[in-house]
Amino acid sequence: MDVITYDHSLKFFIRASLIPKPIYTGFMTKDTTHSELRAVINTIVDGVIIITDKGIIERYNPACAKIFGYTEKEAIGENVSFLMPEPYHADHDTYISNYKKTHQPKIIGIGREVSGRKKDGSVFPMYLSVGELSREDGRGFVGIIRDLSYRYEQQKKYESLQQAHFHLSRVSAMDQMGATIAHELNQPLTAVMNYTEAGIILLERQANDVSPKRLKNIMVKASEQAKRAAQILSRLRKFIETGDMDKRIQAIGPVIETAVELTLPSFKNDGITHKIDFEGNLPDVLINDIQIQQVIVNLLRNACEAMQTVDIKHLSIKCFQSDENNFQISISDTGKGMTQAQYEKLYEPFSSTKTTGLGVGLSISRSIIANHEGRIWAEPNVPQGSIFHLTLPIS
Ligand code: ADP
Repeated sequence: MDVITYDHSLKFFIRASLIPKPIYTGFMTKDTTHSELRAVINTIVDGVIIITDKGIIERYNPACAKIFGYTEKEAIGENVSFLMPEPYHADHDTYISNYKKTHQPKIIGIGREVSGRKKDGSVFPMYLSVGELSREDGRGFVGIIRDLSYRYEQQKKYESLQQAHFHLSRVSAMDQMGATIAHELNQPLTAVMNYTEAGIILLERQANDVSPKRLKNIMVKASEQAKRAAQILSRLRKFIETGDMDKRIQAIGPVIETAVELTLPSFKNDGITHKIDFEGNLPDVLINDIQIQQVIVNLLRNACEAMQTVDIKHLSIKCFQSDENNFQISISDTGKGMTQAQYEKLYEPFSSTKTTGLGVGLSISRSIIANHEGRIWAEPNVPQGSIFHLTLPIS
């Protein structure tokens, strides 16, 4: 029931529903005295401001003084717009007069996030709920203000921590891949050397009679190999870059292929066979390619590492549209598999069965996939090994 109380000293009626719920529920009744109501307004950690229908501040509680930095004395009698930054500052009177004319609420009875301005001029985020007051002497409004600065700050800290975390785990993956990558680079560089040496020998032997076509052929091949080396380096650089977390609509195929190319060379000597199946036309997805690559690299590495101690070593990567809205990647291995207890702790940070494992890969992977509005889960592969599935929404 909505209780309306008349406050004699303040000369207005106030609806109980205008007081934030946790405070009045259970004890705000018809018998609630005005001094109790005033005590609530004075003690509440949210700011409470009461204004006339002209926007003039009539009541300003101690929490408001803390939030805005103006004392009650400085605030009473001022137009409430002085607590707002531009453009709200200039437009505030228009909001009230529009509401009085149209009765179409923009914020009254709804509440939303807006910006406030403190005495020192700084602008801060706040949640504002506004209610209308039925008063004997005309209309008034009550605003309840919650300062969101702390929450925003925490959110920012969390985001930068998360970014540092992603970066660290990429560097750690990169560290493990380092030796193999150096080996990978050696291949195209040796090829460049061989082709150019072949060119030199050709020029020396047939000084005046070199076939331009043959020479061009050698140069083209050398240049292709140099490009391949540059590509390996640029992919690696991208992989460890801090970069931003922006998502772009893009084809998923190349992202999967790059992850495979970055991972499998490290396990070249382990006798692992692999197969990639792209079923049908691959859709475009809204992703941060580096993060999704990181997830796939982590799943592939885990799968390959789980196959170190078994005889049959086969890795299968299936990519298909699982339903109308989702694309699925399933990575299965024939490795040692996992116990029920391991399945239960899979995404817990720092749970690893590897001597050099950090145990954060899957927990990071899950938060990346959740951030992409997808899903990641694992199940046993029959007769041997594990399958990790992930889905991503199709753009
Ligand atoms: P890390 O690889 O550093 O241990 P992860 O979070 O990526 O961290 O993996 C956590 C644990 O999950 C691994 O230590 C391993 O015990 C288990 N695991 C993950 N993938 C597989 C897999 N394909 N087969 C068997 N065990 C796996």
